[in-house]
Amino acid sequence: MNDTIVALATAQGVSAIAVIRLSGKDCIDIVQKVFKGKNLQQQPSHTLHFGTIYDDKKVIDEVLVSLFKEPNSFTKENCIEISCHGSPVIIKEIIKVLLKKGARLAEPGEFTKRAFLNGRFDLAQAEAVADLINAETDNARQAALNQMRGGFSKEINRLREELIHFASLIELELDFGEEDVEFAKRDDLRYLILKIQTYLQSLIDSFDQGNVIKNGVPTVIAGKPNAGKSTLLNTLLNEERAIVSDIAGTTRDVIEDEVILGGINFRFIDTAGLRETQDVIEAIGVERTKERMKKASLIIYLFDLTQASLSEIEEQEKELVSLSIPFIKVGNKMDKADKSLLSKLEEKNFLFISAANKTNIQQLKEKILSYFQVQSVKTGDVMVTNIRHYQNLLQTNEALQRVLDGMDQEITGDFLAMDIRQALHYLGEITGTITTDDLLDNIFSKFCIGK
Ligand code: GDP
Repeated sequence: MNDTIVALATAQGVSAIAVIRLSGKDCIDIVQKVFKGKNLQQQPSHTLHFGTIYDDKKVIDEVLVSLFKEPNSFTKENCIEISCHGSPVIIKEIIKVLLKKGARLAEPGEFTKRAFLNGRFDLAQAEAVADLINAETDNARQAALNQMRGGFSKEINRLREELIHFASLIELELDFGEEDVEFAKRDDLRYLILKIQTYLQSLIDSFDQGNVIKNGVPTVIAGKPNAGKSTLLNTLLNEERAIVSDIAGTTRDVIEDEVILGGINFRFIDTAGLRETQDVIEAIGVERTKERMKKASLIIYLFDLTQASLSEIEEQEKELVSLSIPFIKVGNKMDKADKSLLSKLEEKNFLFISAANKTNIQQLKEKILSYFQVQSVKTGDVMVTNIRHYQNLLQTNEALQRVLDGMDQEITGDFLAMDIRQALHYLGEITGTITTDDLLDNIFSKFCIGK
């Protein structure tokens, strides 16, 4: 960690300004070697300096250098941000000359990884940095910000400390071997575990909402060819995205787009129509549709009211029910539908729309939303949005349950201690008190370069 890393921190492509970021003990010296302006070492932290970056005698660009001296920076190391003009050529040239002077290219997430390893924040907070950057709704932004500012970390660490205390007492008992001593009062341990379980359960329960807020809701629009799926997706998106045609089987692959309804990001997936087909490519599309339906959180199933008979509709309904995924039955083309069919379907909880004429689309949106009501996230709300945290919380709770059950069965202290250590391990992995290289690599490799 003693070397100096460099990366573009802003997006690739042409922009007014780009920011190139460096972190490491020697970063000020490295930048100084290519910077004509003030002597940066002599400047105080958190100051801005105008100058030029050059390579030998060639001036590459006029830039502004922001200086952050250790430990008062994001990574707690010396950090510099060079704001240059946002041309890919300039960016490339500046990074090249910095590499020549001793910096190396940063790996994905390496700035945040250094911040974590230097104790700037814990692992759950580091992960929230990535969530904040990737937030697609205001709710997702607020949830990530709350987590980045501490979230559940403090409480988890506090409960973990209490549990460590008990683990050590029990382990002390083991040192006394055959003697019948009990340093860890079992009733107190039971009380603590119940307290921890109650807290963890409230976090576990929050994941349903947290997951919807962070990851959005994959919503599949399915139905027979020509039912109007592409038309409905276009209507929902208010733009011409999917190809609409009256030749059955036009949407051969899966088209996906996002619409924010009620603060939730719905990923609407328009699929190839479900039918028996001899066409190889269309058959692949149909297969993919079935896979997507199984993975969806919600299926909007379109019935073509001008084509389907009541018995056909009932047949398709049966297949839908067998998937055990929430679905909304939507009858499309109500403008041309037979009135007697409408009245029969009305009793079966169908929603009638016309995707082409945009009739009842608001009702459909409300119905979709009714499956995923989320409260708007406020400052300080604590919730779990990360599946890694969620899984570790479940594993912690299971280990704690084994401790409780073990005490009921009066098992020996060494087994109790083992389960407590296990719980401590899972809990510690959430905030990163316990980490392995694999765990860190796995987390930070998902970050972008420059973060
Ligand atoms: P998909 O194969 O399910 O994606 O169906 P499309 O969206 O391509 O639509 C098939 C045909 O049905 C097109 O000619 C659309 O214009 C027509 N269509 C879609 N929605 C409606 C509607 O609400 N009313 C009527 N009358 N026609 C519609």
